[in-house]
Amino acid sequence: MLQIKDIVNHLESLAPLCLQESYDNSGLLVGDDSKIITKILVCLDSTEGVVDEAIAKGCNLIIAHHPIIWGGLKRLTGKNESQRVVIKAIEHSIAIYACHTNLDKIQNGVNHKFAERLQLRNTQILKPELGLLKKLVTFVPVASLEEVRSALCLAGGGTIGNYDHCTYDTPGHGTFRGLEHSNPFVGEKGELHREPEHRLEILFPVYLQHKIMNALLVAHPYEAVAYDIYPLDNANHEFGMGMIGELENPMETADFLRFLKQQMHCNAVRFVNSNPERKISKVALCGGVGHFLLPEAIAQKADAFITSDIKYHEIMEAENHLLYADIGHYESEKYTMELFIELISQKFTNIALLFSENNINPVQYFIS
Ligand SMILES: [Zn+2]
Repeated sequence: MLQIKDIVNHLESLAPLCLQESYDNSGLLVGDDSKIITKILVCLDSTEGVVDEAIAKGCNLIIAHHPIIWGGLKRLTGKNESQRVVIKAIEHSIAIYACHTNLDKIQNGVNHKFAERLQLRNTQILKPELGLLKKLVTFVPVASLEEVRSALCLAGGGTIGNYDHCTYDTPGHGTFRGLEHSNPFVGEKGELHREPEHRLEILFPVYLQHKIMNALLVAHPYEAVAYDIYPLDNANHEFGMGMIGELENPMETADFLRFLKQQMHCNAVRFVNSNPERKISKVALCGGVGHFLLPEAIAQKADAFITSDIKYHEIMEAENHLLYADIGHYESEKYTMELFIELISQKFTNIALLFSENNINPVQYFIS
């Protein structure tokens, strides 16, 4: 019997909420996370039609990419769609969970799915996120050094690129004197003690801080553990916006556009390309609104940058640097529904997961 919180905890262990942008509102938006799940309906947008579908199909959890609530809801009178969705979801005991920019930023997230559709190889995050790493420094008596080190690594610290167990230690001496109510692990209460210790350093992602601190306090033998936590400016290459990779074989522009349209099931591709002779090999992409990543795509010498919702003056900023294409917001993110199913099925196989059939592209194309 799965509770809503089991799914929420699993998704947030993969796409931590702290990764979301400040304007975002990912997380459980409606519902009680202790309720037992009947079936799950996945969609891009939890529209009124999707809530109706959940009611009809007996689903009591909707997992959406875009949050239905952005700003504060000041009244619930059903005057607009987000209010009607919330009212109807509450009336029918349906929970709504959104996993948005935090899912955009993980390595196996929205943009990975997009890159997979384009069969890109050697993919990397286009713009790695800053401020997501911290350093823990602690001071450990020699005999406990390995135990503390392995506990911190087991809790998820010490991963750099393709390496784990990355730590550093330097020998030294710690001094302390136990006060009246102390119970020192070594030395005598009231006496100044000098102990051979190692200064142990390890990086960890910010969202693991609670786990890392628990591991430290359990593994370290001292009654009062000395430690420092430093925020870092290092980029974290595991998280960030957009993705860049290479096509298996370079393509002529027209062939690439045909391939793009076919792989992403688009009705049309809007693009600028001042150099039609250019062959497309290195491709940058960003599901949803990605114009802010254009400078990054140019700096990394992408031959093409694919995203959506590009304005007229924005699209001209590509100048002669690359092919800049807009495939539509829904088209660039619709495979996120498959992603939800994959991420949940990795851990839970005994729950019914349904694709929404009502959450179709709200934008239509008139092609005569
Ligand atoms: Zn979007």
